[in-house]
Amino acid sequence: MTLLTFRFAPSPNGDLHLGHAYSALLNKKLADVHGGRTLLRIEDIDTTRCTPQFEAGMLADLEWLGFGWEQPVRRQSEHFAQYGAVLDRLIREELVYPAFMSRGEIRAFIADSEKRGRDWPRDPDGVPLYPPADKALPMKERKQRIADNAPFAWRLDVAAATARTGKDLAWSEFTDETLSATHPVEARPQDWGDVIVARRDIPTSYHLAVVVDDALQRISHVVRGQDLFSATSVQRLLQQLLGLPQPAYFHHRLILGPDGRKLSKSLRDTGLAALRDAGASPEDVRRMVGL
Ligand code: GLU
Repeated sequence: MTLLTFRFAPSPNGDLHLGHAYSALLNKKLADVHGGRTLLRIEDIDTTRCTPQFEAGMLADLEWLGFGWEQPVRRQSEHFAQYGAVLDRLIREELVYPAFMSRGEIRAFIADSEKRGRDWPRDPDGVPLYPPADKALPMKERKQRIADNAPFAWRLDVAAATARTGKDLAWSEFTDETLSATHPVEARPQDWGDVIVARRDIPTSYHLAVVVDDALQRISHVVRGQDLFSATSVQRLLQQLLGLPQPAYFHHRLILGPDGRKLSKSLRDTGLAALRDAGASPEDVRRMVGL
């Protein structure tokens, strides 16, 4: 039997809160129950928002909490060349295209289209889908704009991608925290439109780095918050395009704040460091998150 492998993959762009504590401790508990491995991955590709200070704070909080993890820790910012090689493959296979529209241009395009009575489609997060214009740009024009240093992002041509993989994509989702049963979930990557898979200066995005790393680290079980449930559709498509193995997924409940809203990294009172300073113990945190 292959070893089950779990991971907790925070982004060091703020302080860990109770929601992260639940996710980390649930991964740890499942790994322990199933005799599996627990990995920590630092998802710091956004070099403008992630800082070494936040990372140090996270490591200290996780240590305090008793989240034991294997060394070495994979830090995504140290592997841009690896993601770049995967991106090159997607470029060669014409599954991505350079998208040049700025946020302002996208807004104007959509406002114009909606003025003419057409509701513009939105992704599961409520963000308008990327307009189709750049996909139709002739190769010569694309090359010229890139040579002229125009800002752009690499976007997945989701129509070309799903034509390649076929439409029947699904993933296995566990039905509850005990991981005793799974059910198939239909992947709907088209709901996200042509998502960004890399930037001009950073040869990856969250989606690309996650699927590359989950495969490289042989993650068998992705246990993460319900807020990433819909994103799994895009990741499943990328796995299929790249011929990567598929982990099974469990998207767990979210820990909500007193106002019933999702916790954020800026909410001080549910931050782990603040709780610790106020005298809470790791056992208190476990109780607070229901573990
Ligand atoms: N880095 C992501 C976050 O902090 C989590 C990614 C994942 O678990 O797939 O929200």
